[in-house]
Amino acid sequence: MVKKRFLISFDTKKTPYIQTDILIIGSGVAGLRAAIEAAKYAKVLIITKDKLSESNTEQAQGGIAVVLSAGDSFERHIEDTLRVGSGLCNEEAVRILVEEGPLRIQELIQWGANFDKDDGRLSFTQEAAHSMRRIIHAKGDATGSELEKTLILKIKENSNIKILEYTFAIDLLHKDGTCFGAIVDIKNVCRKVVYAQKTILATGGIGQIYRETTNSIVATGCGMALAYRAGAQLMDMEFVQFHPTTLYVAGASRTLISETVRGEGAILKNKYGERFMFKYHPEGELAPRDVASRAILREMKETNDTHVYLDLTHLDSQFLKNRFPNIMETCSSFDIDIKKDLIPVRPTAHYMIGGIKIDTNGSTNIRNLYACGETACSGLHGANRLASNSLLEGLVFGWRTGYSTGKSIKDGEKTKAIPEIRSILGYDNSKELNIGDLKASLKSLMSKCVSIERDEKTLLEAEEKIDFWSSYVMKKEFSNPNGWELQNMLLIAKLIQKAALTRKESRGAHYRKDYPKQNDIEWLKTHIELSRNIDYEITKL
Ligand SMILES: Cc1cc2nc3c(=O)[nH]c(=O)nc-3n(C[C@H](O)[C@H](O)[C@H](O)COP(=O)(O)OP(=O)(O)OC[C@H]3O[C@@H](n4cnc5c(N)ncnc54)[C@H](O)[C@@H]3O)c2cc1C
Repeated sequence: MVKKRFLISFDTKKTPYIQTDILIIGSGVAGLRAAIEAAKYAKVLIITKDKLSESNTEQAQGGIAVVLSAGDSFERHIEDTLRVGSGLCNEEAVRILVEEGPLRIQELIQWGANFDKDDGRLSFTQEAAHSMRRIIHAKGDATGSELEKTLILKIKENSNIKILEYTFAIDLLHKDGTCFGAIVDIKNVCRKVVYAQKTILATGGIGQIYRETTNSIVATGCGMALAYRAGAQLMDMEFVQFHPTTLYVAGASRTLISETVRGEGAILKNKYGERFMFKYHPEGELAPRDVASRAILREMKETNDTHVYLDLTHLDSQFLKNRFPNIMETCSSFDIDIKKDLIPVRPTAHYMIGGIKIDTNGSTNIRNLYACGETACSGLHGANRLASNSLLEGLVFGWRTGYSTGKSIKDGEKTKAIPEIRSILGYDNSKELNIGDLKASLKSLMSKCVSIERDEKTLLEAEEKIDFWSSYVMKKEFSNPNGWELQNMLLIAKLIQKAALTRKESRGAHYRKDYPKQNDIEWLKTHIELSRNIDYEITKL
């Protein structure tokens, strides 16, 4: 296992610095929501590696699951989440998510978020494995961008919050189990040390380590890698959720065709026009995502095709136009008229269930280091995420992390004196590496060997190649984000592979062909934790 503590050489004494109370890395829903709360008590700096809105949040389509509709109840939403989580959910975190959710949404509405309505009341849609219609949405299928826009407006009017765009967090400043901020690279400006009393990682997911993904280009697992190098514990890394239905047109990006499309009645068909989902699950098209993804994979194999189809042609065309304007527009740019044509789809990497282990206030095992959103793992999703629970997670746990960090600063929590930190790597950088080629090779390997279905043979093949590439890539000292991302991606790929090899059963999003059954005797309520200091550990809740 890779034991590096830093990716670059530096000396804090000789590096220009910025100081803030709270440093937030990432500007998706989790980072922005944390910032708004933390700024009530302290000065906040948000850094983000691309433009402010570039994130998985911005791309989210379907909506936000929340108990606000008549006839719904906290217990029902909790039950649905636990059922899909396959015996691995942290029930306390689930209860917090569900019970604090309505408050976070009402707040957003007060701040101007414009969710879709029917006759003046919030409109609710259905998604897989929800026992009722409880998903609110905006602009039909553009919920994420409405959310991001609302939060950004709120951030910009707050003088306690500063923002640095195009600023890449390379590593956390850490010593003896305490975090003091981060070392960052500001594009076309310089490298700087950011000293902070509290640091929050809100860096999102890992989709970009797979060849095909719905995720934004920024989803390279950076936060998890930074945390791991600093000694933080990571948990549940074997659970990567694949979305069953992404547009499959050669040369096009893998645009998500939201689950709400199936919630509104779309049908999955194979190339012979046969509806197949009821062969695999009594809920048909509304089966949990792992079941639907594996079913599609099997149909693709059986029909010897690269994809299956979504059929919306029986739905009312005006309804389609109002409800799914973005999906309609994207498809039509490839000459697919969703009112008349079937949409070619296949599963791709979508959501990281595992991540940096946190408690319900966002604390990690490193002093003054916190995490929230997709990069964090409170155990809330268990072995599989219930659709549309993650934007709500960003809001609820973003708020909690912002509150707990901000409040402790206001309450005058004593901070340790900042030590001098130095990293001297002395690596040989004489030979150039083709980073694009290495990233592409890693993505292909992960898609082939650590994908929807895995087994010991594919996982060992992945291990051998990742170890080989790491043996020379990790010895380099890169000077730009492209190289640091590659190093982070290799590390995260290795951790996913290691956890997937260790869990010898199938559960939720983790399916082992050589252990196809869920094994409750050995693995119920059992997590795999990984850290630089302990390699890996199996813990029971
Ligand atoms: C296409 C798509 C559709 C989805 N639809 C839904 C949906 O309908 N409902 C739902 O609940 N969920 C949905 N999800 C999932 C949901 O969008 C994400 O889980 C959620 O938005 C994650 O929010 P986040 O704040 O944790 O991370 P993100 O929104 O991904 O933000 C991460 C931030 O971290 C920054 N960052 C990363 N690394 C660094 C670094 N090294 N230095 C500095 N900054 C860094 C990024 O630039 C970015 O600003 C969808 C996801 C996708 C991809």
